[in-house]
Amino acid sequence: MIVKSAEFVTGAVKAGQYPAGDFPEIAFAGRSNVGKSSLINTLVNRKRLVKTSGTPGRTQQINFFIINEAVFFVDLPGYGYARVPVAIRKNWGPMIENYLKGRKTLKALVLIMDIRRMPGAEETSFIAWLHGFDIPTILVLTKTDKLSKTKQIRQRQEAAKALAVDTGDLILFSAKSRKGKAELWRALDQFIPESRIKIDEKGLDR
Ligand code: GDP
Repeated sequence: MIVKSAEFVTGAVKAGQYPAGDFPEIAFAGRSNVGKSSLINTLVNRKRLVKTSGTPGRTQQINFFIINEAVFFVDLPGYGYARVPVAIRKNWGPMIENYLKGRKTLKALVLIMDIRRMPGAEETSFIAWLHGFDIPTILVLTKTDKLSKTKQIRQRQEAAKALAVDTGDLILFSAKSRKGKAELWRALDQFIPESRIKIDEKGLDR
């Protein structure tokens, strides 16, 4: 798709601060440093729309971006899965839980994982936790450029086994090479009904 505009709208820590507007919304989640900011920036063809983790600020809030004045992209604060059970009782958990429960316009969540790190019990319990909210989840393995093609295939198979999904359910992505960008947009587009922003293969990889 051709991204014509992508703007930061606001950061929120509670529901009253979420932006108004009846736009379909896609949320992005992942461990700190997994490459979430880079993935969103790649999708919208911007270098620094979402501040990468080296940049302080904006990190512990839910950040809303408006794409083509038609869709909200929501950057959820990064976390360590291991901290989730504790964090659920503290700040991160309730903030995310309230968002996932309360946001009617949320269509899908993109869960980003590092292809080099085999998903374990932490990931599966996190995914199960997400399923409890009944939100379609798109699974992405990023930083694929860091592995050879052969290793990417092997890791994807192993990750699929660990997560009990089909290999085809794991999108291979790289912010560096932009691999997987078209595939991820296709997956997102299914959740953007009557989208004003239609997939345009030429526009995608320009
Ligand atoms: P976030 O904390 O999840 O938002 O992660 P960032 O997007 O800030 O990325 C963390 C680090 O990984 C940065 O140094 C990025 O340059 C690097 N990185 C992110 N995505 C990729 C990728 O696809 N390939 C490579 N080689 N590095 C990446």
